[in-house]
Amino acid sequence: MDLTLLYRGPLSSCDYDCPYCPFAKRRDSTELLRADRAALERFTAWARAQTRDRLSILFTPWGEGLVRSWYRRAMVELSHEPHIERVAIQTNLSCRTGWLAEADLNTLALWCTYHPDQTPYQRFIDRTGELTAAGVRFSVGIVGLPEHLEQARRLRADLPEHVYLWVNAAEGHTYSDEQAEPWTELDPLFPFSRHPHDSAGRACRTGSSVVSVDGDGTVRRCHFVRDPLGNLYDGSFRDALRPRPCPMAVCDCHIGYVHLETLPLYDVFAGGVLERIPTAGARRGLPLYALSSPMVDSESNEPSARL
Ligand code: SF4
Ligand code: SF4
Repeated sequence: MDLTLLYRGPLSSCDYDCPYCPFAKRRDSTELLRADRAALERFTAWARAQTRDRLSILFTPWGEGLVRSWYRRAMVELSHEPHIERVAIQTNLSCRTGWLAEADLNTLALWCTYHPDQTPYQRFIDRTGELTAAGVRFSVGIVGLPEHLEQARRLRADLPEHVYLWVNAAEGHTYSDEQAEPWTELDPLFPFSRHPHDSAGRACRTGSSVVSVDGDGTVRRCHFVRDPLGNLYDGSFRDALRPRPCPMAVCDCHIGYVHLETLPLYDVFAGGVLERIPTAGARRGLPLYALSSPMVDSESNEPSARL
């Protein structure tokens, strides 16, 4: 079967200090780091052994994973498995990039976030240059805070055209049409992030072809719905896999709503759902109606207000 796994282990520390983040400059104890490493190695061994499934894996750590050797190793090992379609990780790109030479770059991809107040611009853009030169598949993104706009424009100007720059609506922030416009100029898909998506009762691929896994192997449909479906390692989760509607009122995080069947995002991001890389057409900002799936709310058959 085709299965997408969103893995988040116990790690919850970061080398950056973003003011809005609970993991800023948090240090994990030696015990917790050991536990995180053991959990990741167990998960990696499990994934490598599932040769009858086609797996796509996104690591979504609290904090930063790639500064830890075990995340880099897991990415490299998983990238070489023929039954693994994609292995990707969310990262602040603070780590060096030489380790990527050992990976199969047809499979590995990075979801990189630029935090303007945490790292010098030149250092970040140089790292992205290293990724481009090495042939790594990656997206770059930024949180759409007003004070980030100039840096975001600079990034868009300096990144190669084929590298997608995404913009996340800042949490708790509302954007008037006028305020949203400059962000949409930079990221034609910003309208998807601008508002939370009404998701209650709507079909979502999580719980059937997409699941979240924690360090203990507890499987849930997604990171936001806490009811367990079973455990990864005893196989009990498999019997629970079936389509089910979303029980939450809204879904406001890309790693969640990208799987909503009422949105056309599997078409928009075809081939790059996990690392957030849209198709060339979507990246060029073609009119949304030109995308292969109609931009409609499948409940009402009306154009969706939650684009
Ligand atoms: S880089 Fe990410 S995890 Fe680290 S402090 Fe900033 S927002 Fe938090
Ligand atoms: S729509 Fe979001 S919150 Fe609801 S089940 Fe899907 S991923 Fe989870």
